Amino acid sequence: MQQTLPNIKDFTKPELIRAVTMLGEPAYRAAQLHQWLFSHRTRSFDDITTINLALRQKLSSIYSIRTATLDDCRQEYRDDHEIPTTKFLVRMHDDETVEAVLIPAEDRITACISSQAGCSLRCSFCATGKMGFTRNLTSGEITDQVWLLNDYLADHYGQKITNIVFMGMGEPLLNMTHVLDAIETLSNHNYRYSLSQRKISISTVGIIPQIDLLARSHHKVKLAVSLHSAIQKNRESMMPAAREYTLPALKKSLAEYNRLTGQPVTLVYMLLRDINDTPEEARALVKFAKSLFCKINLIDYNAIVNIKFKPVYSGKRELFLRSLLDSGLQVTVRKSHGASINAACGQLVTESRQQHLPEEPH
Ligand code: SF4
Repeated sequence: MQQTLPNIKDFTKPELIRAVTMLGEPAYRAAQLHQWLFSHRTRSFDDITTINLALRQKLSSIYSIRTATLDDCRQEYRDDHEIPTTKFLVRMHDDETVEAVLIPAEDRITACISSQAGCSLRCSFCATGKMGFTRNLTSGEITDQVWLLNDYLADHYGQKITNIVFMGMGEPLLNMTHVLDAIETLSNHNYRYSLSQRKISISTVGIIPQIDLLARSHHKVKLAVSLHSAIQKNRESMMPAAREYTLPALKKSLAEYNRLTGQPVTLVYMLLRDINDTPEEARALVKFAKSLFCKINLIDYNAIVNIKFKPVYSGKRELFLRSLLDSGLQVTVRKSHGASINAACGQLVTESRQQHLPEEPH
């Protein structure tokens, strides 16, 4: 019964104020409640000792407090870091699963989290794109992923998450309200754990109307755009969303984002063997990026079973990188981590679903 009631962790502070005042309680109760839910991270109304028993009983008859769980994890150790890259399967109250990954680096520990269960955008190189869209995650389900990973990190290694990227399953800008609500909570500096919004990055395929909204919002999060090709025809063939959000329109929107926020944009470019690693592609990328305030993040592809793409050869990566650097662009190269644990998004959920499929009748 509890689990069918609305999850109070999905409420923003203003929504909590409304809920509490509708019960005839003063608004400051909402601030207490928010703190208990997101700083103390209580799992039961009974624990909220600063709120009187009658209100606790009322709340628990109307709302639930749901918490996602870690269901499975895969790890990959690297020589240069004591903490392994760890990918988790996170299970929601309705048994829907998403992925979240801890990615340690020299100077940071990043949590890569999901914004949707599945995805409607069908990028051809992505395992999540193959499974289709199930539903948006709520803001409570998004913050839960961060708490769960942070607790895991604290318990096992005595460390904290230093950065968050919305680069897991789903397109965050198609679930923008819940993503931004979650970010508000995660960046609340009065709470036990919080992060500056500058340490949080939203990664999008380039949903232009939402980029424009983000540029005009008061949020200070970073923006990353999965570009993967600066040639319209090639980009469309990999990313169907690019048909609607074309490269010229995207470039205009990013230039406006630069102007309004004063912030750079990261252009994420995943090198795919013989697909987007040619000199012609490098020249197109230089042309696209040259007039923007941006940096380019070149990443390797993790091969996925049943998907035709392959990682780039290292010699070609060097040539591609050299042409970008020679043009004066700022470029970082991210080596592939997590190949042995299928760290590209959607692969662990796909495997888990396959394991849970009923056996074919003989
Ligand atoms: S790459 Fe991102 S936007 Fe594209 S299908 Fe996968 S999850 Fe969706």
